[in-house]
Amino acid sequence: MSNLLENIPSPQQWFGLSGSPFIIAGPCSVEGEEQIHRTVGAISEANPDVGLIRAGIWKPRTRPYTFEGVGEIGLPWLKAAGAEAGLPVAVEVAGAEHVQAALKAGIDVLWIGARTTVNPFLVQEIADSLRGVDIPVMVKNPVNPDLELWIGGMERLAASGIRKLAAIHRGFSAYEKSEFRNPPRWEIPIELRRRYPSLPILVDPSHIGGKRDLIQRLSQQAMDMGFDGLMIETHINPSRAWSDASQQVDPQTLRNILQQLIIRAPKIESGQHQLLSELRARIDRLDDYIIELLGERMDISSQIGAYKQEHHLAIHQAQRWAEIYRRSLAKARVTGLSEGFTQELFRQIHNESIYHQAKVMEKEFQISGAPSEKVQQG
Ligand code: PEP
Ligand code: MN
Repeated sequence: MSNLLENIPSPQQWFGLSGSPFIIAGPCSVEGEEQIHRTVGAISEANPDVGLIRAGIWKPRTRPYTFEGVGEIGLPWLKAAGAEAGLPVAVEVAGAEHVQAALKAGIDVLWIGARTTVNPFLVQEIADSLRGVDIPVMVKNPVNPDLELWIGGMERLAASGIRKLAAIHRGFSAYEKSEFRNPPRWEIPIELRRRYPSLPILVDPSHIGGKRDLIQRLSQQAMDMGFDGLMIETHINPSRAWSDASQQVDPQTLRNILQQLIIRAPKIESGQHQLLSELRARIDRLDDYIIELLGERMDISSQIGAYKQEHHLAIHQAQRWAEIYRRSLAKARVTGLSEGFTQELFRQIHNESIYHQAKVMEKEFQISGAPSEKVQQG
């Protein structure tokens, strides 16, 4: 693991602001000079907490013959609208040409969209074009649930000298029908946070939900998980927007959403919460116990491995495992554990068990001089 993504300043520090969460708002796209002026004006008037304006100039559309953004002509409109409201502005860039145009227009922050993060050539091109430039860059997750690719994109920028970085979680596309446009798969940004605790993670509930009505709930979930901010698509006339009309909110709705948010303390000071400390102590004891039990279980697996070895029985007995799954799922149901979790847990336990049994057999191979084959784990 590289240390390129350590000690990253917060978005508040980029602009010398205080207060949290960090709020980014603005339309999906710049549609015209008046639209962006009115939208930014109304956002800042109704929402003093907004710290940054977003708006797409070049739009990566899934299908052709849809609105693909006004292009470079919109950059000065956006910059002027931000300046009038006293707010910095951000645009999406998908290559070096976009970067050059955005820098020339004095755009304050850049972001890389989900369809660009998937492409290391483009991310590298952007990173190279930013060498020696001190500008914050936000990186949306790739459309596919690939944490390494997301991290790789941010590392490319960091390696180019960009220190003001943030990840934007916008969900992951899925073929299956879902309540969400891009299901959030919260475990992925949570793992990102675990690996790089100082890296700011902002959440884009607009592109996750795809529907206005989901934004409040998703924003609250983002806060409950301790993420650092929100990017919410906001338009002066959302239902008439030229792109992503169903997921944008108007500036007043944004205000309501933000006012209803319950902000959780991101860090718990030890000693401050007696009951929490007690509950955590109980969890720690149970976790120790789970590990001990699993160790004991694997000892038995090793004994079974020795028995199978002696009696020339194959390690994997499909019928036996089907039976174990069935029993555990039935038991889990009663205990209130989800089916998905139980299946995954037992899949892992099965892998570990096979590994332990195979180790016993491998030892026998070595003793009898047979070539020892490395056993694949997991
Ligand atoms: C956007 O922010 O308007 C956008 C195109 O988002 P994403 O890259 O997340 O699809
Ligand atoms: Mn959009």
